[in-house]
Amino acid sequence: MNGDALLTLNAGSSSLKFGLFSASDEPKEQLSGVVSGIGGDARLRLKSASGESLLNEDLRDSTTHEDALREALRVLSDHHSIDSVRAVGHRIVFGGPEHSGPRVLNASVVTELESFVPFAPLHQPYNLAGVEAATQAFPDAVQVGCFDTAFHRSQGWLQDAFALPREWFDRGVRRYGFHGLSYEYIASVLRVEYPEVARGRVIVAHLGNGASMCALRDTVSVDSTMGFTALDGLPMGTRCGQLDPGVVLYMFDQLGMSAESITDLLYRESGLKGLSGVSNDMRELLSSNVEAAQDAVRYFVARIQREIGALSAVLQGLDGLVFTAGIGENSSAIRERVCEGLGWLGVSLRRDANDDGRQVISDSQSQVSVLALPTDEELVIARSAQALR
Ligand code: ADP
Repeated sequence: MNGDALLTLNAGSSSLKFGLFSASDEPKEQLSGVVSGIGGDARLRLKSASGESLLNEDLRDSTTHEDALREALRVLSDHHSIDSVRAVGHRIVFGGPEHSGPRVLNASVVTELESFVPFAPLHQPYNLAGVEAATQAFPDAVQVGCFDTAFHRSQGWLQDAFALPREWFDRGVRRYGFHGLSYEYIASVLRVEYPEVARGRVIVAHLGNGASMCALRDTVSVDSTMGFTALDGLPMGTRCGQLDPGVVLYMFDQLGMSAESITDLLYRESGLKGLSGVSNDMRELLSSNVEAAQDAVRYFVARIQREIGALSAVLQGLDGLVFTAGIGENSSAIRERVCEGLGWLGVSLRRDANDDGRQVISDSQSQVSVLALPTDEELVIARSAQALR
């Protein structure tokens, strides 16, 4: 690759996703990869822009995020020059109440983001470890933070507030919403490819291992199913989704469970995995004959339908419904089952288009345009890095 480059980083607790993009007006992905199993049996995968696997190797010595980044840069530089990296874009889960867009990560912004660690202790420290590692690796590059919460800062107090005493709002206990980079990407696709839909009342269903939905009016976020943390709303692969807080009090107070074990239960043992006892993976559940696996799928579909009803009420109607992320983009069965219960909203699916994996999957009678679109959070990060470098 000739010319300037951008690096994107998405650091989770045990993984580091990375991408190398050209630094052009519309960045183009050159290479992407992931180091998984950081701290344990780490493995590095690298693929080309066309999706061809270039590398899949054990990384026995990769125990920290710094190690993972060093290994990622080593394999990237085997294929491309990385001296030309001018900006590094970071996915940061929690941007707090003020940041409504990406920011250059100077010392004061990093200090502010560190102060948010108690709000997102399972994600924020790893995101910031990625910033630290990239700053050392590329001291002359601009570091740019792209926040999952930023897209939802357009929401009003009614959506942001919990009905707790007012001072809790001021102390930061609010609904922030997540998956903002995915919604921003979908909004950008709607504006360019489906402008009629974009101008209307739209629900985007981001259904992956993590899952949430967002109500858009004219591509601006007006409500979402996720709240203070990425636990709220829809049931997910291993997370419970909406839960009466009294359940947590019962576990803590009456059963004597520790905060750590409740955290583990709600984040890692619940959702599709907990309900099915089989797997957190939708493909496995759909092909399983175990009754509990089918119950888990039914539950997932029912909660999506329920929240679509709620978000449609917020929007006062519905013009578009977009499915995205691993399940939303790839599972025609889940899309069909969700839409089956939405006839009252004017949703009518075109079966063959849905089965063929087309983008527009509603029929000509449908009062709601139903779309299945791939998401691309990395491209949103790269665009932000390009804009702020
Ligand atoms: P993450 O939140 O980890 O980024 P993804 O967006 O990759 O997750 O989504 C992962 C989920 O998508 C898994 O439950 C997986 O089973 C599901 N999935 C991927 N392809 C299909 C498919 N063809 N049919 C059903 N589910 C699928």
